[in-house]
Amino acid sequence: MPNKLHRILILGGTAEARELAARLADEAHFSPLTSLKGVTRTPSKIAGDIRTGGFGGVDGLSSFLREEHIALMVDATHPFAAQISAHAVQASKQSGVPCLRLERAPWSVQAGDDWHQVADIESAVQAIPAKARALVTVGRQVVAPFFAREDIHVVARMIEEPDIGLPSHAELLLARPPFSRAQEKALMQEKRITMLVAKNSGGDATYTKIEAARALKLTVIMIERPDKTQTTTALNVVEMMGLIELTLS
Ligand code: NAP
Repeated sequence: MPNKLHRILILGGTAEARELAARLADEAHFSPLTSLKGVTRTPSKIAGDIRTGGFGGVDGLSSFLREEHIALMVDATHPFAAQISAHAVQASKQSGVPCLRLERAPWSVQAGDDWHQVADIESAVQAIPAKARALVTVGRQVVAPFFAREDIHVVARMIEEPDIGLPSHAELLLARPPFSRAQEKALMQEKRITMLVAKNSGGDATYTKIEAARALKLTVIMIERPDKTQTTTALNVVEMMGLIELTLS
């Protein structure tokens, strides 16, 4: 790698994005700039430069890449953030700035799991039987359709409060992962949960709820990821560092 300083745009909002920013900031020839949508009220500390807010669609992102002399963009957004990833692919084509994807592996069914796999939030809402007591862990931005089901009891866990009111048949648990398997099992027992609703986020931080559901023989309604296969993808930061060096060499 030559001695040139490479400006790397990281589309962030995940632990992997933070980890990548720290690794790049440690290298003399990289200057990381992390972009956040700005929805989290208390974001974790990130190495290197930070900007917040949308770019204004594909054209806005393309202009940003050119104006900020970005050498390479890493889409390290959450597996369920579909729009920004699609914009990254198109903006990369428009601007000629290469785009790589950093995405942790999804969870897969293990012996003892009872998964009902669905494609999206709406299908997950419909898959819950009447009178169920569902632990819903999908995030505050998409919890509304679960609250609309008046024939079930919803225990909604999320990091920050949703912008919508809580109906009488729902409870809110505000908590930030990680949680131990014992904590997850105790919660499911205490709340008499009959099924878990989860996004297939992958990673270790929230896997204990899947293990707890397995131990208690509960069905998991697993919302599978949107397809983001158009981009060259690394599953972890070490792999990504190699891909970046290769792409810029
Ligand atoms: P989204 O639906 O894919 O994106 C909606 C719009 O938000 C984009 O078109 C873009 O606006 C802006 N945006 C999203 N991520 C951005 C970023 N990193 N930097 C600048 N602008 C961004 O995204 P989402 O599902 O609302 O997720 C928002 C952020 O939260 C993402 O960065 C993601 O990594 C993080 N997150 C999401 C989830 C999830 O389950 N969806 C979970 C954990 C963290 P413009 O079109 O104006 O550029």
